[in-house]
Amino acid sequence: MTECPVCLHADFDEILKRDRVPVLQNVIVATEEEARAFPVARLRITGCRHCGFVWNADFDPDAIDYNLQYNNSVQASQVYLAHQKAMAERVLALPGKLSCLEVGCGEGEFLNALAASGRLAKAIGFDPAHKGVYPLAENIEVVRAYFDDAAAKALPGDINVVVSRHTIEHIPQPRPFIAAIAAYVKERGLPLFLETPDVSWILENNAFEDFFYEHCSLFSPRSMQYLLAEFGLKAKVEPVYGGQYMWVEAAPADASDIGIAASGEGVGKASAGIVEALGYWTTKVAELGRKGPVAIWGGASKGVTFSLLIDGVDCAIDLNASKQGCFMPVSAVPILAPKDALARGVRSIIVMNPNYRNEIRADLDAMGWDGELLVLQDEA
Ligand SMILES: [Zn+2]
Repeated sequence: MTECPVCLHADFDEILKRDRVPVLQNVIVATEEEARAFPVARLRITGCRHCGFVWNADFDPDAIDYNLQYNNSVQASQVYLAHQKAMAERVLALPGKLSCLEVGCGEGEFLNALAASGRLAKAIGFDPAHKGVYPLAENIEVVRAYFDDAAAKALPGDINVVVSRHTIEHIPQPRPFIAAIAAYVKERGLPLFLETPDVSWILENNAFEDFFYEHCSLFSPRSMQYLLAEFGLKAKVEPVYGGQYMWVEAAPADASDIGIAASGEGVGKASAGIVEALGYWTTKVAELGRKGPVAIWGGASKGVTFSLLIDGVDCAIDLNASKQGCFMPVSAVPILAPKDALARGVRSIIVMNPNYRNEIRADLDAMGWDGELLVLQDEA
């Protein structure tokens, strides 16, 4: 890799390197043996000094097979559902009946949330990893394929809004991805809504748990605006979900009206802070372990990375019933229902995502648990 995949400049820093990370985090692994033998690959997280884009320079798309027991459902959490509904309302702020194209629709949860308003005339979602897990509203159609120029030509003429949530971070070449979407929205003058993690939050919080293989492309607000501007779209970017994600509203504009400053944004001090945070939690988990088993709450991306990098995690608690009784890839830490974890005598629980702290506190109080609850971003 000799240039930034977003701005094409060759001016970047290495943020971190890891040699053996699971190629997928959100997977269902039934046995400990399978977990230990899970396919691994390398991370070389790199930050562009010119536009602020952050990517895995060692990413190999062929290492990932999303058909492999992939399960990224967070639909069991009320906090997440409330966030999804709030984002749906931002799209529903558009007037009239909506005909929506969603690029990377997953299982179609967001399109269902739009349909629940009664204002969705129709929707077409594209996702090669779509499995058909949930029933979808009858006016929703899902195509199991990538969205590209050929797919755009086959779309019905009345699409009036385009959405792409939590997809671009999985795309190693964001320029052609946005080029295809931008060509479509420019031709028709349509609004585009995007949602993706905000790498500025990850770097500011030394969130080492948020760097993993699936997310090969991480944007700051500025690098997102930069990329969209390259393809003639002007974007407004807003932090959502406690700052962990960005919500982007973009629309076609004249080049003279877009005006993205192209000066450096810097990602320099990130690596030192991340090393420090890792050291803090290594010591902390060893200390907590002397009082009894230590659990983490969250068996998805953050939890998989945390248990891989920090020794001494007894188990992970997750509300996703399809993961309970399974194991996290590589570390082979078991994933359990809350009651099964507490039955192991867990004395400390570390919450992986600060957004869920109140929900988790209430669940534990209801079960009469009297151990110590810690939250990842409250410390270090
Ligand atoms: Zn760049």
